[in-house]
Formats: sequence, structure tokens, C-alpha cells
Amino acid sequence: MKKRFPFVNDEVSKRDFKYYIFDWDDNILHMPTKIVMERRDPDGVWRKTELSTASFALVRTDAEHYRCPEEGGWREAFSNFSDEAGPGRFIEDTIAALEKVEHGEKPGPSYNTLKKTLREGRLFAIVTARGHAPETIEKAVRIFIRYALSESEREEMMSNLRGYRKWIDKAESFGTDAEELDYYLGMCRYAAVTNAGFMKKMAEDPIYGEKLAFATRATRPELAKEFAIRDFVEHIFHMLRRNGAFSRSVAIGFSDDDKGNVRSVSNYIKAELSRRFEGIKFVVYDTSDRTLDKGRKVCVSGQLNLPGF
Ligand SMILES: [Mg+2]
Repeated sequence: MKKRFPFVNDEVSKRDFKYYIFDWDDNILHMPTKIVMERRDPDGVWRKTELSTASFALVRTDAEHYRCPEEGGWREAFSNFSDEAGPGRFIEDTIAALEKVEHGEKPGPSYNTLKKTLREGRLFAIVTARGHAPETIEKAVRIFIRYALSESEREEMMSNLRGYRKWIDKAESFGTDAEELDYYLGMCRYAAVTNAGFMKKMAEDPIYGEKLAFATRATRPELAKEFAIRDFVEHIFHMLRRNGAFSRSVAIGFSDDDKGNVRSVSNYIKAELSRRFEGIKFVVYDTSDRTLDKGRKVCVSGQLNLPGF
């Protein structure tokens, strides 16, 4: 029998505050987006080739056989990872990845955590090295909701969203489902850290502008992820403070399949975030091992201990 959910779930007021930050590629979904490179064939001639993100990770330091395109350089190499060829590319790739999951292929290790986050109506951020506009990422999340959540799970999500609106925002009446979903997704954050708008915002920040000036090509994406994470944590902090809701435990989880990012974000949390936001517990998940569901918990910082986090 179909499970019924109350129109407004008042139970959300008893919950702890848990939020998540997700990397997208190979963390939520294995995307078919290809990196454009040149490979030196046995005859010594460099020819154009397209690599998956997983293959690229294996050959990116093999300068003898692989290089970025002579014409266009790294910008050309990652042209499919931005909106340069139109925002439709990311959406199409997201649909293709979700359809594979529908046909039984294993999704990324954090796929189910994103599903649960949406079902429970919790705030989250997508932080990716891609270069899309925030609206493009938000659109992909809407597609995710349509494909990955069943009708009953979407109903559960709406019931929870109204619960939060009533409890946190003191809402007495509600908009249509579409309006309430817009409101929720508008409270979440979508940061593609190689997007021009994002980079401009970072360059204008007094602290990160300076850090960026001294960063190398290799450390820039990690620095940009830090900036995006700080932005989301501040957003959550201000939202909770505004609503006087800081009386209970707050936890923020971060998951990424890139070991370099996991390491730098863990260090950043320990050195800065956990000191600045004392009441918040931070948990980092390394999802580089595809055989592990949810990945491996690698860093826990903060004094609070929430069951089941
Ligand atoms: Mg990734």
C-alpha cells in the first residue's frame, strides 16, 4: 500500500540540523562528460582523443603520451565541463547518467545521501570543479529529483519542506508544490568553482583574493572549493542565527571522490572552520573507493556527537 505523508510534517521540529556539501562527478553520478586531450600515437603523431574523468585521472601526469589540445589549451580540454557549448550539455549528461542508474548501473557513492537529503528537505550545497552557472547546476538537481525520487519520496519531501517552512519561517500558509520547491532550492547553494562569476566573486573577497594571487594552477581548484564551503557554512550559520535556532546540535558533511580535495578540505576544516564555528560539527567523507557505499569517514571535527552521522 502506498505510504501517506501528512501535508505538513511537524516532526521536523524535533530533528537535529544536518547539512551536506556534495561534489558532483563520480561522487553523486558517474557522468559521461568527456575531456578533450591529445594523445601521441606510436607513429609519433599527436591526435585528438576524448577521455572519461576516470581515465583522465590515470593519465593526466603522463606528459609523454598526453597533452591538452595545442589549440585552445586547458580551456578547450574542459570545454564540455562549462556552459560554453550551451547549458544543455550538463543537463543531457545528467539525464544520461540517471538513465544508466535506472537501468541498474551503480551510481556514485553519495547518490543515496543526496536522495535522503532531498527527501528530508535538508539544505545542501553542490561544490564542483566544473564551470557551469549556478542555475545550470540547480536545473540538474531538479532533474535528479524527477528521476531519482519516486512519487511517494517526492511527496515525503514536500511534506518535510512545508514542515520546515512552518517551523523555521513561521509560515501559516503555503504556495503550490512548485513554489515551495523553488523556495527550497533557492536556499541551497550551487558552486561550480571554475565558473567566471564564481571566480570573480572569489577574486573580490579580501582574504581569498590574496590567497588566489599566490596559488598555483594545481592548488587553485582546492582553494576555490574552500571558498565555496566557507560561503555555504556562513549561509547556514546566518540562517540559523536569524531564526534563533542555535539551541541544538548542528552538523555539516562534505563528500568528494578526489583525495586531493578531501585532504585540503579536511585541513581547512581543522585549521579554520572548526575554530570559527565552534558549535558546528564537521564530517568529511572520502568517496574515492567506488566499492564502498557512502565512502569512508576521514575527518571529524567539532565537539558534538550526533548519532547516525
Ligand atoms: Mg569528483
